[in-house]
Amino acid sequence: MDFTISEKMKTILGMIDEFVDKELIPLEPEFLTKPARSLLPVFEEKRRLVKQMELWAPNHPKEFGGMGLNLMEHGLVSESLGRSPLGHYIFGCQAPDAGNIEILHQFGSDEQKEKYLRPLVDGKIRSCFSMTEVELPGSNPVMMDTTAVKDGDDYLINGQKWYTSSADGSEFAIVMAVTNPDAGPYLQASMIIVPTDSPGFNLVRNIPVMGHAGEDYFSHAEILYQNCRVPQSNLLGPEGHGFVIAQERLGPGRIHHCMRWIGICNRAFDLMVARARDRIIAPGRKLASKQIIQSWIGECAADIQAARLMVLHAAWRIETVGKKEARKEISLIKFVVANVMQKVIDRALQVHGGLGMTDDTILAFYYRHERAARIYDGADEVHKISVAKRILKEYEGRQVQ
Ligand SMILES: Cc1cc2nc3c(=O)[nH]c(=O)nc-3n(C[C@H](O)[C@H](O)[C@H](O)COP(=O)(O)OP(=O)(O)OC[C@H]3O[C@@H](n4cnc5c(N)ncnc54)[C@H](O)[C@@H]3O)c2cc1C
Repeated sequence: MDFTISEKMKTILGMIDEFVDKELIPLEPEFLTKPARSLLPVFEEKRRLVKQMELWAPNHPKEFGGMGLNLMEHGLVSESLGRSPLGHYIFGCQAPDAGNIEILHQFGSDEQKEKYLRPLVDGKIRSCFSMTEVELPGSNPVMMDTTAVKDGDDYLINGQKWYTSSADGSEFAIVMAVTNPDAGPYLQASMIIVPTDSPGFNLVRNIPVMGHAGEDYFSHAEILYQNCRVPQSNLLGPEGHGFVIAQERLGPGRIHHCMRWIGICNRAFDLMVARARDRIIAPGRKLASKQIIQSWIGECAADIQAARLMVLHAAWRIETVGKKEARKEISLIKFVVANVMQKVIDRALQVHGGLGMTDDTILAFYYRHERAARIYDGADEVHKISVAKRILKEYEGRQVQ
């Protein structure tokens, strides 16, 4: 593998790092203390600056107004942006829009692309992805109660979803619903585009996550679909192909998420080292003089580096052999990086003592919000089992001495 970063990417990453340092990190104290909606005008202004610098929508297709970076390149961008919780949103490459953009680009009709994809890439509207249900296991999504039944030219959707991230303020949701109950388990559900002003789309509440309900982009909603009516032309891709399309969304999205988490690790690590160097714990003695702290610094540096290389390797595998062949690596990085991130944030917080528990640094925010990384997009256990099954199969008939 060649780890050389091209001159073009060095320039882009330099500009992004500078922007994150000068424009976004100074905004964080406000972000941590004020309602998100009150800051939308400020966010809009920052987004305008990003567009002016021609760094908008780095991973999205050029023909729709993005920069068209490839997976490895955007992985590096995602790492830089991950250093602030505002990074991806301000640069127009935030989840869940990023995944929705990918599938609209790949499976959307021309009409859907004009109506939904173009303004989404442009940042004029936002969207959400509504799959997980309250009563059934998200870890086994083929168990799904939400239905979409044909009624004239429309679908009538009924079901209760939650953790529809960023639904508050979204223009539309991509909803997974059972359309073909008699088909095999993986061919029963479809993806349907549901404008959030459709009759029967009811946002019940923004769910408090670790004590914070949030709002607008920074929230996770519970949604009740009650005879929610949308035209059948809102079907995304073929009927019954919801899970097939969901699989498509997986590989690149995983690289972006994991590199964002590496960015969070880098930020937490920087804060940890700086605090250890500054904090006096006895006359003439800094925290950094303690071996236990030095050991944490060494361990975290090694963990971050190992996790980062695993993600870059997985991205390289996706690009060279394809998503299907890289499934093991895609699962491995999910639980490895989520756990490294949790450990690094925890250590950084510990080094800050009481200060770490406050919102005077970004660490408590990361501690609260990133715990979910071990749950969403496949819980740790599910990925471990999937990797183990694949490995056990590889050993079938193999003589080991
Ligand atoms: C912050 C956040 C954002 C999210 N955003 C979205 C979103 O935008 N859209 C969306 O549709 N969903 C979203 N989700 C939902 C997420 O995808 C689900 O929470 C996840 O798939 C797990 O499903 P569940 O919560 O129903 O847990 P369950 O499936 O009930 O699993 C509970 C626990 O059981 C264990 N477990 C499960 N299966 C196995 C197994 N086979 N073997 C051993 N142990 C197992 C795991 O520890 C797991 O954490 C989000 C979740 C969070 C927390």
